[in-house]
Amino acid sequence: MFKVLKQVQDYAKESFQAAKFIGQGLSVTFDHMRRRPVTVQYPYEKLIPSERYRGRIHFEFDKCIACEVCVRVCPINLPVVDWNFDKKVKKKKLDHYSIDFGVCIFCGNCVEYCPTNCLSMTEEYELASYDRHELNYDNVALGRLPYKVTQDPAVTPLREFAYLPKGEVEPHDLPAGSQRPGKRPEEILATMTKEEETKE
Ligand code: SF4
Ligand code: SF4
Repeated sequence: MFKVLKQVQDYAKESFQAAKFIGQGLSVTFDHMRRRPVTVQYPYEKLIPSERYRGRIHFEFDKCIACEVCVRVCPINLPVVDWNFDKKVKKKKLDHYSIDFGVCIFCGNCVEYCPTNCLSMTEEYELASYDRHELNYDNVALGRLPYKVTQDPAVTPLREFAYLPKGEVEPHDLPAGSQRPGKRPEEILATMTKEEETKE
């Protein structure tokens, strides 16, 4: 008799424990249903890079004066500026320019210090290649216009999840013009200008 009672007691105890563990597991599942998604259906969906994203560098050949400032400020002296001195006009003449993105650390120093603004950082991040030598971009490759996620008809652009409006967890069907949390740089600037005007 006691043995049967003991078996019933053990069975009830184990059932209770099993129910408890299932409940714990499901609580994690239900908790995730309220969280923002972390996956993107790449390559059909792509995140829109943030405004100050440092991607592939764009170079404008005609603006470059071959001053080599970009080489001097680069932590690894990476840009290769190939120039000749044109005796007729007594000026440097740029022949070739290249940056090896297999080595570049995308620090943006060259872009920051270039006196003629012929370098700029784009939002292009898909640089994968089977051959590392293909990452050495010459002035033609560097001069290609940047690729934009928002202009690719085959891709659904998604706003960065961290930039979703407050309380929004679904990035796919955001109404047009919905505002991310926090202020945009131009809004901050407008506020600062207004404050300065009030002081004066
Ligand atoms: S981004 Fe930085 S590492 Fe790359 S070329 Fe410019 S200065 Fe050099
Ligand atoms: S700093 Fe600008 S202008 Fe000077 S060599 Fe580099 S890319 Fe050309």
